Amino acid sequence: MNLTSYGGAREVTGSSHVLDTGTARIMMDCGLFQGHRIEAEKKNKEMDYDASAVSCVVLTHGHCDHCGRLPMLGKNGFTGNVYATPATRDIAGLIMSDTAYIQQKDALWLKKKRKSDHPFRPLFDQSDVTWVLNQFVSVGYGRPFFIDNSVRCTFYDAGHILGSAFIVLELPEGLKIGFTGDMGRAGLPIIRDPQKIPDVDYLVCESTYGNRLHDPVECAIGELAQTINDTFDRGGKVIIPAFAVERAQEVIYHLHRLYLDQKIPKADIFLDSPMATNATTIFRIHQECYDETVREHFLDDNINPFGFDDLHYTTNVEESKRINDIQGPAVIISSSGMCEAGRILHHLKNNIESDKNTILIVGYMAANTLGRSIADRKEEVRIFGLPYKLRAKVKILNTFSAHADYNEILSYVGALDKNRLRKVFLTHGEDDALDSLRDKLLGIGIKEVQIIDPKTPYEL
Ligand SMILES: [Zn+2]
Repeated sequence: MNLTSYGGAREVTGSSHVLDTGTARIMMDCGLFQGHRIEAEKKNKEMDYDASAVSCVVLTHGHCDHCGRLPMLGKNGFTGNVYATPATRDIAGLIMSDTAYIQQKDALWLKKKRKSDHPFRPLFDQSDVTWVLNQFVSVGYGRPFFIDNSVRCTFYDAGHILGSAFIVLELPEGLKIGFTGDMGRAGLPIIRDPQKIPDVDYLVCESTYGNRLHDPVECAIGELAQTINDTFDRGGKVIIPAFAVERAQEVIYHLHRLYLDQKIPKADIFLDSPMATNATTIFRIHQECYDETVREHFLDDNINPFGFDDLHYTTNVEESKRINDIQGPAVIISSSGMCEAGRILHHLKNNIESDKNTILIVGYMAANTLGRSIADRKEEVRIFGLPYKLRAKVKILNTFSAHADYNEILSYVGALDKNRLRKVFLTHGEDDALDSLRDKLLGIGIKEVQIIDPKTPYEL
């Protein structure tokens, strides 16, 4: 039996790991490579394995770097099942459709620009997404199912995003292998905390923040209230660039709690992102993923956690444009999360030059993005190719990360039976994070830690 990673090895995108049991080839995740366009496109196009030989796919969650290459499997001969929790199926469907749409738009744009030296063809289209959605088999948390005559699989809540799961495979003779996918954190709003998995013989563990610590989750709601109140006192608006899935819903959920507790004043709140609105619909129907707090504060009283007075979901461009005419205090949540495209650009353009307003950063901003320039408080930034003075206040909340930091990973892995755990394989991290986490895991008594190299089979 061996394990091979085809993505997410010594990098943080494109997660895909194949366990070859001798009778089945089980793929955990099938993520899209992201980052520099030409490089990512090359990696996404290359299939380094025979897709028709993959028996089935088991998905940890619906983020694009974990499910975004699934539609390509079908194009390359895959005919098996895709196992996922019900919420992951729905989020993955939304993400894959959005990816198909963006690819199609990019291809048209590049064709128009006559960049024929680098013809860009979409990796897949909507029909490929529809095909793969029909392969899905949804299974809830804690419900063991057989994915092969001899392999039993169970999902445990990973506490990362709605529907996210740790995967535990049970093989003949009681051998157990755990896959963390992305590991979440205790205390995140809406979803439950990461659930303890049974003791395993091998663990494939992520290491995105293997060398970093986050601010405590509990600070988020207080700092959010403070930022809104300070800005409203100046008569300004709060602009929040947010990722459409999970972050936008977390912000809405926190605002709803603050509003009910009268910790923020009555004012218009806009969610101006069609993708985030669609994602919120998915959140609304998957109450099986909610934690006790949501039940206590909302469901028991039949209140929609994602709907309240003065919260407006804009549905078309005209409504979005009308937000510009609003005078006085308001909160505008919009995507994209890194301010690279979408409606957020219009809101930044209209509000960035007034010192009454605040731009609230609640997510990771990659290098060379407008979001990073704002987070770095550059004096001048470019929006739609024109220069704008950054006069608005910039507030960064580091409490919103959905990934465990190294202390959280160590305490999770450390709670497993160390005598039974033969080896931890590390994936999904840059080199510094991987090296640092390996040393830390050895430091807490883990017997063996292996950093996985791409396309290299490891015997189990
Ligand atoms: Zn993720």
